[in-house]
Amino acid sequence: MQTQARVQHSSAFAPQHAAAAAAAAAAAPAPVVEVEHVSKRYGERVAVSDVSFSIAPGQVVALVGPNGAGKSTLVEIMVGLRRADRGRVSVFGSDTADPRRPYAARIGVQLQQTGFFPSLTARDYLRFFQRVYPRSVDLDQLVRELDLGRFLDQRMNKLSGGQRQRIALALALVNDPDFIILDEPTVGLDPIARRAFWQLLRRVHGDGARTLLFSTHYMEEAEALASHVLMLAHGRILAAGPIRDVVAAAGSAAATLDDAYTALVGMEQGTLV
Ligand code: ADP
Ligand code: MG
Repeated sequence: MQTQARVQHSSAFAPQHAAAAAAAAAAAPAPVVEVEHVSKRYGERVAVSDVSFSIAPGQVVALVGPNGAGKSTLVEIMVGLRRADRGRVSVFGSDTADPRRPYAARIGVQLQQTGFFPSLTARDYLRFFQRVYPRSVDLDQLVRELDLGRFLDQRMNKLSGGQRQRIALALALVNDPDFIILDEPTVGLDPIARRAFWQLLRRVHGDGARTLLFSTHYMEEAEALASHVLMLAHGRILAAGPIRDVVAAAGSAAATLDDAYTALVGMEQGTLV
């Protein structure tokens, strides 16, 4: 992930000369998503303020920040469900303001609230989603990979939170997307279900075969799964980059992402009170 935020990439690997910088830029793969100076207000309330970053193919990015930080708004803008007031977002090289949404077939999205009809089953949902997309994975294989078989034919209102989250993940994968965006996918899961979900996400990532962005309140989860972190508060980026760089930039007292989060978000909230 590249960003213009406070925390920069470790300089040890940064090109030192203009020629080296040009060579590195030429060799870099095209970003999956590029967010440039994006801002969004709801009336007087600022939800996202001048946010810029990019995500390279194969990265796993954890989007963290307190409630109201602007995570969901940013996710919705990135997938083209909300319009930014200012700035620009491109996904796979297409501007998300383009109403044809040419990138839509290549992304899989799980929004924060997945409202399921209580009387339908996972099988109903999977079949419906399969018909909606021009490209679809083999559903039997998806069911096997996500281990949905045991509850495939039960009504949604009979399922546990963990089972519903797995179905929501499956629906985000029906079109075999290259970029998967999950807004708080493990909220409400017990520790065992959460760890099982991590295993699923690792399998979905396939060692870099896909690019993943997920938001979470759990720093332990971000550290366990993500290569990079994007830390937001009050709509602004506090820190972004490889996890160890963000931890290092938070000061010598920070040993974990949880320490860095407490230091950076705490400082931000303290300065605004
Ligand atoms: P997060 O996902 O990090 O909790 P959100 O993006 O949901 O943050 O919210 C960012 C800010 O925008 C919050 O102050 C929230 O109250 C406000 N907000 C979000 N959605 C709406 C909306 N539809 N109308 C008005 N305000 C909203
Ligand atoms: Mg949210």
